[in-house]
Amino acid sequence: MSYKRYFISACLLGQKVRYDGKDCLVSQLVEALLDKNYVSLCPEVSAGLPTPRPAAEILHGSGADVLLGHAQVFSSDGHQLSDVFIQGAYKALTLAQANHVTHAVLKANSPSCGSDGIYDGSFTGQKIAGEGITAALFRQHGIHVVTEQQFLAELTQTKLTDEPN
Ligand code: SF4
Repeated sequence: MSYKRYFISACLLGQKVRYDGKDCLVSQLVEALLDKNYVSLCPEVSAGLPTPRPAAEILHGSGADVLLGHAQVFSSDGHQLSDVFIQGAYKALTLAQANHVTHAVLKANSPSCGSDGIYDGSFTGQKIAGEGITAALFRQHGIHVVTEQQFLAELTQTKLTDEPN
């Protein structure tokens, strides 16, 4: 029997670690995790970034490109932050691997945690296909990554399938 162990973006559980000093609490997710085995971390804060902090976006690529040095992360005030974002991704991966994580629920759209779209680096709210740096690193190491909404949708689907007719 396979056993799922989860990694959850810390902001989704109510930790105020977002760039704007807020959280992204999803109460439904917290409830759904009650009977599950999980660990949680904010990659950006774990790498030493403060909260609050300027927003950051990936310019000219996606998370996998940043890991290869082919794209970079910039803050809205013009600082290049690729190294610290990569460091945060590896801290998250270290925690995940130490706990035999198989699945991750990562906050959508973030330059670290986004897994089905990210902002395009223009700080104008435009989204493009792609993933954040932590999401890319997790996938490269065989961890199944979804957004919070995808996780909840899958859970609902499973419950509907399990219900007797
Ligand atoms: Fe949330 Fe991930 Fe951003 Fe941290 S890096 S605030 S966990 S989305």
